[in-house]
Amino acid sequence: RILLTRVFDQYRESIKGIAMTVQDITREVELNEAKSQFISNVSHELRTPLFNIKSFIETLHEYGEDLSEVERQEFLETANRETDRLTRLVNDVLDLSRLETSCRIYHFEPVDIAGPVEQTLRTYQLNARDKGIELVQEISPKLPPVLGHYDLLLQVFDNLVGNALKFTESGGRVVIRAYPLEANPNPNHPDEIPQVRVEISDTGIGIDWEDQENIFDRFFRVENRVHTLEGTGLGLSIVRNIVEKHHSRVYLVSEVGIGTTFWFNLDVCTEKDQSIEQPSEDH
Ligand code: ADP
Repeated sequence: RILLTRVFDQYRESIKGIAMTVQDITREVELNEAKSQFISNVSHELRTPLFNIKSFIETLHEYGEDLSEVERQEFLETANRETDRLTRLVNDVLDLSRLETSCRIYHFEPVDIAGPVEQTLRTYQLNARDKGIELVQEISPKLPPVLGHYDLLLQVFDNLVGNALKFTESGGRVVIRAYPLEANPNPNHPDEIPQVRVEISDTGIGIDWEDQENIFDRFFRVENRVHTLEGTGLGLSIVRNIVEKHHSRVYLVSEVGIGTTFWFNLDVCTEKDQSIEQPSEDH
């Protein structure tokens, strides 16, 4: 045993080096696999609306004269809907890939959460009223600014409120809440940064326990739902990515038939943050 220990000591550094290299290679392989999986999913998702658009145009072109005016209109409307779907998909894929480009530096600054929340309310208020859903905000008065990126946070609210409205029936309620978390004086971490909790709640159809696990995965959509085709399955991946860029995590609590709440915490912008010169945004 002594001999073995000596041999091991002698080669300890080399063994550590080899282990590190194997770890690096494994990570590289995993990243490459994830990338090819993503490309293959994207191609599949793009192919479906493209195929549909082409079929409708071909049918109109070849058999247009045999169709009634109503049928022709229906074909055109469907092709138009599919084009919209394709546009949403391309936009979401571009957003996600931009977010995942690790070399990009985001300029973080003090953000008053009321800003993106009010902008989101303006965007969706009409849609909510049409659907008979009450859309409201409950922002604590004197909420301190958080350290964040305005446009990215706007996109988080946009995706979460858009989903909440999509999966809530008439008569339901969607609430955007933001409040400071109780300061929890921790003697071990006296420098702990105070945080703000953000919640987007709905009284919609809810998400099954088994689906909750995969809900943030790219292209994941709960099966057999009316709105499945409207979405791209990328909205929540984008949300997760943005919240992670803010050094936080997004969680959900949901019950089928009762509703869903997505929530995350953001760091309050301290005086120190405000005085640090941030790197400028890399386009
Ligand atoms: P999509 O573009 O399909 O909405 P998302 O990634 O935003 O993609 O959401 C993935 C799936 O999660 C949706 O298709 C939907 O089935 C489910 N989902 C998201 N938000 C809600 C919600 N608030 N209530 C119920 N189901 C939801």
